[in-house]
Amino acid sequence: MTVTLATDELFVAEKFGPTVQGEGPSIGRRAVFIRLMNCNLTCRNCDTPYTWDSARFDLDAEGTVASISDLLAWATVQPVDLVVITGGEPLMQQRRLIALVQGLADAGLQVEIETNGTIAPAADLLASVTRFNVSPKLSSFGAGMPSSKRIKGRVLGDFAASGRAVFKFVVSSTADLDEVTGLVADHDLAPVYVMPEGRTAEEITRRLAEIADPAIERGFHLTTRLHVLTWGDQRGR
Ligand code: SF4
Repeated sequence: MTVTLATDELFVAEKFGPTVQGEGPSIGRRAVFIRLMNCNLTCRNCDTPYTWDSARFDLDAEGTVASISDLLAWATVQPVDLVVITGGEPLMQQRRLIALVQGLADAGLQVEIETNGTIAPAADLLASVTRFNVSPKLSSFGAGMPSSKRIKGRVLGDFAASGRAVFKFVVSSTADLDEVTGLVADHDLAPVYVMPEGRTAEEITRRLAEIADPAIERGFHLTTRLHVLTWGDQRGR
């Protein structure tokens, strides 16, 4: 990335909606999305590589520099009460993100931030956000990345202690549920959702049927990927 950002600007991949939150506790809720550029991980199964993978994408062309005032002006006139900030990894820009989240909260909007759980949230961000949807990456999803890069125990502990986080694991098979069980026990994570990996309705439906009963037996909540079931792999839905 060669763009230079002012303190009141963010590097944005896209903003879109109204649509619905497709995953997690707010599934089905009308929402708008702001997707930020850049990530500190390199997951093999990432469905938004255009936010970070400079080997395959021209990140300067994929991203847009947007002022926080313009993002606030856009979000606050949308006919929804939920804004989802996603990525990439949004907390890579968290110092500049604080003013956006505070502005959205001041306007009466709820704000969810989706994060991979490897960067500790600043106190100012914690104070304004409605909820963090924390999605630590399992070995099957982030193949090739060492666990020391994917899993930051102290950061997960901070999120768990905040009272403003849920934990969502993307799983490919029942074997992944054992890894989830270990992480949940090691870091005292709750509440925990598991979600089938997949970019087509067929993949998601098949994997959800496979993991549902064993996930429930382990005490986990389930979520699907409603936007994929509804619109497939379309970008911006
Ligand atoms: S953490 Fe998320 S955005 Fe980053 S590479 Fe992994 S799946 Fe993609």
